[in-house]
Amino acid sequence: MEIKKIRCNFCKLLKEGIVFRHYNLKVCLECFPVFFKKRVQETIEKFKMFSKKDSILVAVSGGKDSMSVLKALKDMQYNIKALHIDVGIGEVSKKSKKFVQTFCEEENISLKIIKLQEEINSSVEELSKISKRPVCAVCGMLRRYIINRESLGQIIVTGHTLNDEVSFILKNMIFWNDELLSRIYPVLYEKEGLSRKAKPLCLITEQETRLFCETTSISYIDESCPYKSEVYELFKKIVYEINYEFPGSIIGFYKGYLKRLKNFYPETANNISLQQCKNCGYMTVSELCSICRLKEKLVQYKNG
Ligand code: AMP
Ligand code: ZN
Repeated sequence: MEIKKIRCNFCKLLKEGIVFRHYNLKVCLECFPVFFKKRVQETIEKFKMFSKKDSILVAVSGGKDSMSVLKALKDMQYNIKALHIDVGIGEVSKKSKKFVQTFCEEENISLKIIKLQEEINSSVEELSKISKRPVCAVCGMLRRYIINRESLGQIIVTGHTLNDEVSFILKNMIFWNDELLSRIYPVLYEKEGLSRKAKPLCLITEQETRLFCETTSISYIDESCPYKSEVYELFKKIVYEINYEFPGSIIGFYKGYLKRLKNFYPETANNISLQQCKNCGYMTVSELCSICRLKEKLVQYKNG
């Protein structure tokens, strides 16, 4: 995102700022945080995500996206609490936790930290070996499970951005994963033991969350996890480059996808029948949920 002298459309002054070519809009660095929060608010309303009366649990990783959504919702006076999962992956996890802790203390936000290792009595690396699945997949699955369990009576908010959503759609189109494609939406309403999930940054790019952190002095972890899925990272790079070459194209693609979703998948995943895991009660398609199956494998492994 190029910063240059512009005449700001908000304060009308000649200042350092950025040009959003696809909106035909110029915003100075001082007005940018207001503009950012206005767009978050519009997204929340457009997709009927939640209101000021709802209790919201923000899942915060310590990265720029989830820190941005936490700060935006706090400033907009939503009723929020934060949840951080310490996944125990070396220095990256230690630093991430520190950024989240410091920020929540400064902003006076109630924060709960859960150590993944203590939850499952093992490390993500070991679980990956046992289940023969990539570390990133196992870690993601455990995080979603814990976040859902901790969110009783609350609405889950994550920091997924437009770049995340578009990368996810493209990846799942290339590999035709219809089940995942049918479930992509900015808000997934609560049902059968699963809390409502909302992505208020789904129309905002990662360049914008970075700028929001910079213009509001938020410190965040900028290193990516050593186990990040290479395939997913490749799609993220492609999406970034497409949007760089054709500014505004990815937001058009995403909105177009949402519009066509019902035609593509008239029988959406909302109709897939889930049942309660007979062990822990988590909603699942099979008798035992994936986490309980993983725990069983771990016991078998440890008993040799
Ligand atoms: P990722 O899967 O890393 O792209 O993260 C997507 C979203 O999940 C983030 O924006 C956060 O809202 C949430 N998230 C990721 N990692 C954590 C974590 N360790 N603790 C809490 N929330 C997380
Ligand atoms: Zn301005």
